[in-house]
Amino acid sequence: MEKERIYLDYAATTPLDPQVLAAMLPCFGRVFGNPASLHAFGQEAGMAVEAARNKLAALLGAAPAEIVFTSGGTESDNFALKGVAYGNREKGDHLIVSAVEHHAVLESARFLEKEGFRITLLPVDGTGRVDPEDVRRAITEKTILISVMHANNEIGTLQPVAAIGAIARERGICFHTDAVQTFGHLPFTAADLNADLVSASAHKLYGPKGVGLLYIRKGTRLAPFLHGGEQEGRRRASTLNVPGIVGFAKAAELAAAELPGELERLTVLRDRFQRGVLERLAGVRLNGHPAERLPGHIHFSLSGIEAEGVLLGLDMQGIACATGSACSSTSMEASHVLSAIGLPREFLRGSLRFTLGRQTTEEEVDAALAALVQVVGRLRPRASR
Ligand SMILES: *Cc1c(COP(=O)(O)O)cnc(C)c1O
Repeated sequence: MEKERIYLDYAATTPLDPQVLAAMLPCFGRVFGNPASLHAFGQEAGMAVEAARNKLAALLGAAPAEIVFTSGGTESDNFALKGVAYGNREKGDHLIVSAVEHHAVLESARFLEKEGFRITLLPVDGTGRVDPEDVRRAITEKTILISVMHANNEIGTLQPVAAIGAIARERGICFHTDAVQTFGHLPFTAADLNADLVSASAHKLYGPKGVGLLYIRKGTRLAPFLHGGEQEGRRRASTLNVPGIVGFAKAAELAAAELPGELERLTVLRDRFQRGVLERLAGVRLNGHPAERLPGHIHFSLSGIEAEGVLLGLDMQGIACATGSACSSTSMEASHVLSAIGLPREFLRGSLRFTLGRQTTEEEVDAALAALVQVVGRLRPRASR
């Protein structure tokens, strides 16, 4: 029999929950109508979508009309930045984003810069946190958007988003937060974060890939990103992804029900893993904020070793982790997040991310640790083990 594989890369994506699959299946069969159609086929699909919208809105403390479905976190982030930029051009041309944002935000900002907008990149401290006072100082008369993520996907650091959102609101500036890593993992509403725009994605919370949402607070001005039909209150054209949306809502509902217990359980497992790494390996530097961080997220750097080699060594033993962020795993450049936190040179190439999730057990954590110690021992020169 094949040895059980161990998945410790939940920040990259999560397996679909069987209950989510069960909720989606009718939408691949009987409930196939176009939700925009007036006949009974369409209405049945439309009702499934609206029930899903109501559930997700309730979880975010939002009104159903404040939820727009998208094709995922990337589209939500693009929509937030480009939508606000093009929708508020007469008000100003300045956007503020943190240096550690996901590429979906950073590359949207870079695109807008080429289009003539001005971008301020906010620095972070050594733990990856933005100082809200830096946000205040960066604001100008022309600032139309501030975008700072809720939690970083690479190093797990939580940002002081409520404080940043409060500053934005005081100045009448729109505040967007990418909550893809936290929605369904931490308890919050859009109001808790003082956010006008919130991005979320289903596949990071045991839902299907290719579906996400953008919370758009009532009164927030956004230019449409996709042009075509009149779906989603004319804010986003295209026939709705009915199975995806139904699955997203089911996944979010399950995540919310499990949340308090999972938070506690994952924190204990993460601390166990972290302790093991510190006790059994030399030349380790933990990255990210020690307390203000995602519950199941461990990120560290090893001196004098290539993370790639460790990842492949672990993969040979059926254990999956990540080097830095999944998005940059094939590029040889140092990650923008690790550069932003000023990771010392000797650690830059030896960074590993282990992210735990719903299926993770204590036995898996211990097995992964033992394998890690063995692989590092094999790869490192004798003197620095
Ligand atoms: C995964 C991720 C995204 C992208 O979401 P997709 O649904 O994969 O497009 C955006 N932001 C963060 C923080 C993420 O972790």
